[in-house]
Amino acid sequence: MTTSPGAVRSAFAPWDDPALEPLVVYDGVTKRYGAETAVDDLTLKIYEREFFALLGPSGCGKSTLMRLLAGFETPTAGRVLLGGRDLAGVPAHRRPVNMMFQSYALFPHMTVEKNVAFGLTMEKLPKDEIRERVAAMLKLVKLDSYAGRKPHQLSGGQRQRVALARALVKRPQVLLLDEPLGALDRKLREETQFELIALQQRLGVTFVVVTHDQDEAMTMATRIAVMDKGRVAQVAPPPVIYEAPATRYVAGFIGDINLIEGKVAAVAGACAAIETEIAGRVEIETAESLSVGQAVAVAWRPEKTRILRAAEPVPAGRLVISGIVHDIGYLGDWTTYGVEAGAGKLRAAVANAARSVEQPIAWGEVVRLAVAPDAFVLLTR
Ligand code: ADP
Repeated sequence: MTTSPGAVRSAFAPWDDPALEPLVVYDGVTKRYGAETAVDDLTLKIYEREFFALLGPSGCGKSTLMRLLAGFETPTAGRVLLGGRDLAGVPAHRRPVNMMFQSYALFPHMTVEKNVAFGLTMEKLPKDEIRERVAAMLKLVKLDSYAGRKPHQLSGGQRQRVALARALVKRPQVLLLDEPLGALDRKLREETQFELIALQQRLGVTFVVVTHDQDEAMTMATRIAVMDKGRVAQVAPPPVIYEAPATRYVAGFIGDINLIEGKVAAVAGACAAIETEIAGRVEIETAESLSVGQAVAVAWRPEKTRILRAAEPVPAGRLVISGIVHDIGYLGDWTTYGVEAGAGKLRAAVANAARSVEQPIAWGEVVRLAVAPDAFVLLTR
């Protein structure tokens, strides 16, 4: 029996194995442009076969990190290592790293085949070898019957695959992808995400992708580094980033979150009581070491919030917050409700599992939000 790619992926966690050497190491790297610090004393390890995503708002240093690895920039301080070797002084074209540029960087006057062959032709490889490698790569990205076309005779998705083939045909150890799906529309983007994962697994190449699209990072990445002003705020697999964000910044950056400020009122073992302004006292289990009086935040996701109408009983053991429906966003599959509750606005998201509801929740309706204690995340930073 063969193991499915998904099963291989689920068991993949080289970062948990202390005996494994990372493929790429950013070791205390700083990059300054004049007075601007693009990357700030950053340490990060990326393992072989990872599909690693750098995620963060514009200007947080994602592209700079990539260019440092590709060899288009040199660090102001610190080291970048690949396979244990310091890359300082190794020029870009001698690094086993390739960058996939967006599909509009294809040569318009060249055929698909010539575009893909370009890097190998520049390296002056034997013609037969070039032909073989290009043919194999075009087959892999399912473009073998398009070899003679020019880029303008292809769809956006096909052009993107040519760009990918052109970068992969050189057999890099690490492929850098800068907003790889940015030029595609949403439907095609979603399809292409899964194609990219399958291709990456087949080739065993390490991918490092820069994106500002959190859905893209969540879908494709083995791990995500959430970046903030040249630093890494958290590195973890997507479910950990989402369910156990390390800081307020990470919690707020990925998805929607309800976040209420409070102070530690009491600590007993792994359980803490937090006094909050809008939800009263919240009891929460935590591994953090806390001191009484410390300012903290209690956070939970909108989809882990039940919205109860006036007549509905409150399930046992829930935290209950009363409020007034302030806005309703109908998204088809989900409806999100903004609820004014005392000093702040909270959100609840409800899956529209039934086609019709007799009396939908209305703007201005008085409701209660119920949250199970295991939905809470305690944030100290
Ligand atoms: P991101 O990819 O996350 O949008 P960048 O790595 O491109 O961020 O940029 C990080 C910061 O460094 C930004 O403030 C940007 O203006 C600055 N920066 C990037 N490249 C240069 C450059 N060549 N010269 C001057 N400043 C730069």
